[in-house]
Amino acid sequence: MTLAEEAGVHGILCVGTTAEDSAKCIEIASSFSSVRAAVGIHPNNCHEATEGDWKLIEAMARDPRVVAIGETGLDRYWQDCPWETQLHYLSLHIQLARELDLPIVIHTRDCVDEAIDWLEAQYRSQPFSAVMHSFTGSVAAARRCLDIGFYISFAGMVTFKNGEDIRQVAADVPLDRLLVETDSPYLTPHPFRGQKPNHPALVQHTLECISSLRGLSPQELSAIEADNAKRLFRKW
Ligand SMILES: [Zn+2]
Repeated sequence: MTLAEEAGVHGILCVGTTAEDSAKCIEIASSFSSVRAAVGIHPNNCHEATEGDWKLIEAMARDPRVVAIGETGLDRYWQDCPWETQLHYLSLHIQLARELDLPIVIHTRDCVDEAIDWLEAQYRSQPFSAVMHSFTGSVAAARRCLDIGFYISFAGMVTFKNGEDIRQVAADVPLDRLLVETDSPYLTPHPFRGQKPNHPALVQHTLECISSLRGLSPQELSAIEADNAKRLFRKW
């Protein structure tokens, strides 16, 4: 039994950040029955991606172990990748997800409202399904995402002593659209904050924190999470 299974984690999405990394995610998904893969090129990596890398992503996206496209998104924190390149790659991911009817894993950092403006426009031109991963926006920003059917996923930050703002969001999101994640190797939840790498078994602390916010037992929230994940990642 893996550490994750011992902690009650029965499904793990291994999320790619480059073509090479996405191939590794598929490899891991082949080795563990609880793991599925997402393939994509992260906004902080897309300035280094070649046309060949994108072709590989398009091919890998058709693998039966791949249940989502990403991660993709927009990032203003790191300055390495030009904004136009990030937008171009985000469009490519959305197109591919629509074509294969797969959900998208969306990353945003220091630009959540701007990203939502752009995603809303894309959604209105042709819908797609998505999860806002490791969400850090406001209650109002989360509601805009919910209005277009997106899911909101929370990582370890929700457990941090200074995480009051994000706990307010986690208390507001409808239970049938809420997900938890590790965002490992980063964002290890309290009481292990700072320990690296974060890993899937530790997601139980994030789940426990949100279950107490919502007046549910961890078991109740865990069952809801499993249903939500199955609904979003329908190819699982
Ligand atoms: Zn991310």
